Amino acid sequence: MTFDLFVLPFSIGLVYLLIVVVERFRHWYVMLPPAIKKELRHRILCRSTVNAIWEIIREGLLHKRLWQQNRLLGYMHMSFALGWFLLIVMGNLESRLYSQLHVNPPYYPIFLKFFVHDSHVLPFELTTIPGFFRFIMDFLLLFVLSGLVLALFKRSGSRWFGLHHTTKHNAVDRIALTSLWLIFPLRLLAESFTAGCFGGGGFLTNSLGRVLSAALPAEHLYYPFWWAYSFSLGVFFILLPYTRYMHIPAEIAYILLKHWGGPKITQTQSYYECGMQACSRCGVCLDYCQVACNGNSPSTAPAYFIRELRAGRAVKDITENCLLCGRCQDACPVGIGLVNLRLWARKQLTLQDRLLNCPAYPATAARTSVEVVWFAGCMTHLTPNTIKSVKQILQNSGIKYQWLDADGSICCGRPMLMTGREQEAMQLIESNRKAILDTGARILLTNCPICYKMFRDNYQLNIEIVHHADFILHLAKADKIKLPSLDQKLALHIPCELDRKSEAATALKTLVGRLKNNAQEIPMSELCCGGSLGSLGEYNSDTKQLCEAASKSITQDADVTTITACPLCKKTIDRHSKGPTKDIAEIVMETEK
Ligand code: SF4
Ligand code: SF4
Ligand code: SF4
Repeated sequence: MTFDLFVLPFSIGLVYLLIVVVERFRHWYVMLPPAIKKELRHRILCRSTVNAIWEIIREGLLHKRLWQQNRLLGYMHMSFALGWFLLIVMGNLESRLYSQLHVNPPYYPIFLKFFVHDSHVLPFELTTIPGFFRFIMDFLLLFVLSGLVLALFKRSGSRWFGLHHTTKHNAVDRIALTSLWLIFPLRLLAESFTAGCFGGGGFLTNSLGRVLSAALPAEHLYYPFWWAYSFSLGVFFILLPYTRYMHIPAEIAYILLKHWGGPKITQTQSYYECGMQACSRCGVCLDYCQVACNGNSPSTAPAYFIRELRAGRAVKDITENCLLCGRCQDACPVGIGLVNLRLWARKQLTLQDRLLNCPAYPATAARTSVEVVWFAGCMTHLTPNTIKSVKQILQNSGIKYQWLDADGSICCGRPMLMTGREQEAMQLIESNRKAILDTGARILLTNCPICYKMFRDNYQLNIEIVHHADFILHLAKADKIKLPSLDQKLALHIPCELDRKSEAATALKTLVGRLKNNAQEIPMSELCCGGSLGSLGEYNSDTKQLCEAASKSITQDADVTTITACPLCKKTIDRHSKGPTKDIAEIVMETEK
């Protein structure tokens, strides 16, 4: 016998799922620009494919990044993904032992124990091929069930997993979750009751089958349990494309696009849509998002932001409230480009009315062949002490420089990009780019981390882009300026826009370390100060809360000076912290007077 009516719910669900997933993949491919499609076809036969497959195994099945974040969570996700995948692979191999057909119908390996009882194989027999498969299939089922137990613990309290927050699901997600959770216990019971009636089964299903059949009418129960198992699979497959479980196929597509699409893929609609679907709603980002943890807008965290995006709901508030600090992106185990995704969502909204007051294009600079072109940025112009100190550093070091925005009239274009006005931003960028290159300088010096990031990511300048923290460190190493030795108590705030892993952030830490005349450790915060231009939301009380949380994490003493390297952080922290706040340039020059 190789067919029974109960296989229909599973089969219908599977066919439906395949149609929807193939259609989504086709849609993402069709939407790609022709140049990227060409690149994609070209890379399929290159090493990129090997790298992509390895990443799919590493992150989609083994969940390496998640393991590094949180072992318990990593094990839970791995047991579901790897365990289920191996059950399918091994089940298919096992079914070849009993089938005369060249190609088995897809349901046959899934419900093999209904069709084949093979009662002469002993439960713990490992020396024969059928015995080995019985053992391994039961072992894999146990592996998946161990993940299910952890998932139940996580639902009852995320603190078991060291998480402060866990994601909340909508009704459809809950139905899909319930059907997923039922699949494996129902499989266990269906196989156990069958083993109890007809023999067969491995160490787990055979033993449980004996116990169950001694207490219950197994001959009446085994068949309804196969129906229930098939039904839970069918429901899960039909709901999968409309729930967070779409992340299972989408993560594969996301990894393939990343490896096959070349550098420009990250700016395409397909990549954003696919990234949005690749979110597993694991909840890791919830604990990293300060707006969610310390502010009044928990749904700003990517887990909820993406849930709303997927549902196609108006997400204006939570799209705007994000600080674009990137902490969630660094933590996301799926590696989704969350900052760009937020910017893309902003582009979809009509935010033109929100445009910050951006100054005009610069006048074209005369070619002067200076060594350094200095772009202070409009925010730095609001902190005159920083301007004064940087100017003094440049003069003291004897470097030939040109100050491009001496009259404070240039914007780097970031506010336009953040509000979704990409075309205007590109015009501004092109105009600035020309003015910078016309100076003939070898180095572009910036003081605002926002400008620094903008120049690095969007300008494609073929000159060195240096933040002043890095610049000062280089001058000190070359003995062009002297660093002071300080006795006062210091704390360090790393501006989030400086990008925690950039050379500038590393230079800032090194520089501050060199300022101390003793080995005392300097408390450091990498939290966002809350004043980020990234947030377009109007929620000043949140800024206060975020800033206080960032300040508290390093110092609460009035006699501690907080050092930073961003005009915006300086102004925000200064307003909310007890002690003074100074830019690194000020500190360096203050003691030189
Ligand atoms: S965005 Fe990343 S970290 Fe956040 S829930 Fe989704 S997959 Fe998890
Ligand atoms: S970028 Fe920062 S503020 Fe925005 S969601 Fe991520 S962690 Fe939260
Ligand atoms: S990004 Fe820099 S130049 Fe542009 S508005 Fe902000 S501080 Fe001013």
